[in-house]
Amino acid sequence: MVTLKEINKSFNNHHVLKNINVQFKKGETTVILGPSGSGKSTLLRCINLLEIPQSGTLEIDSLKVDFSGKLTQKDKLAIRQNTAMVFQSFNLFPHMTVLENVIEGPITVLKKDKSNMVQIGEQLLDKVGLLHKKESYPSQLSGGQQQRVAIARALAMEPKFLLFDEPTSALDPELEGEVLKVLKALAEEQKSMILVTHNLNFARVAADRILFLENGEIAFDGDTEEFFNNTVNDRIVSFIQSMQ
Ligand code: ADP
Ligand code: MG
Repeated sequence: MVTLKEINKSFNNHHVLKNINVQFKKGETTVILGPSGSGKSTLLRCINLLEIPQSGTLEIDSLKVDFSGKLTQKDKLAIRQNTAMVFQSFNLFPHMTVLENVIEGPITVLKKDKSNMVQIGEQLLDKVGLLHKKESYPSQLSGGQQQRVAIARALAMEPKFLLFDEPTSALDPELEGEVLKVLKALAEEQKSMILVTHNLNFARVAADRILFLENGEIAFDGDTEEFFNNTVNDRIVSFIQSMQ
């Protein structure tokens, strides 16, 4: 379980996350929706400490950090090992093959055995439909293929939670589908995932739960169906309309 309590994050005088309280359960897929600039990326980045809030606490299972105090390097490493982030821009290592990209982290960071990781890496590439590209370099792949490698790479770290920040927004629509298909399969396998996306159709079919952020505050936190069938909350209704 990931629990954020009373999280505040400002950039200079700009108060971006305002006393956020939220919990993410194991085995659930949560989609974070909200207008541009509402704080979605910042919230996601606080979970793996790419951003450090000024106050509040973050718990991942029995690990706990209090942002009012000083964070140790040990705390940071421990939190980061429990999460893996997939970015909009893939961020693969250009000088490494697809397979090397997938197994690099487990070997160097987690000190896993190389021959064992080659096997696991191949299984993960098979899972995202790219085993036949294992010897290719990122530049030889389409954007959709690169993002599927990035997903395999995140899975190879065996994180408790997978974080995705607009994983398909850099892709042409015809390549978006192949990535969403992989993400949907992971959701069906009950991986624990937190995704920011603008794709409402994906959110509707893959999310167990929706978090709707507005202006740094949680304006909705609940069932996907309840969110999309909402006719009472004007802000949700107009957000959904604006996205269609
Ligand atoms: P979203 O992902 O919902 O579009 P962000 O979390 O990226 O929103 O940003 C929320 C607000 O915080 C925006 O106004 C953005 O300009 C600001 N912001 C985000 N990151 C930084 C940063 N590193 N420095 C200054 N302001 C930032
Ligand atoms: Mg963002």
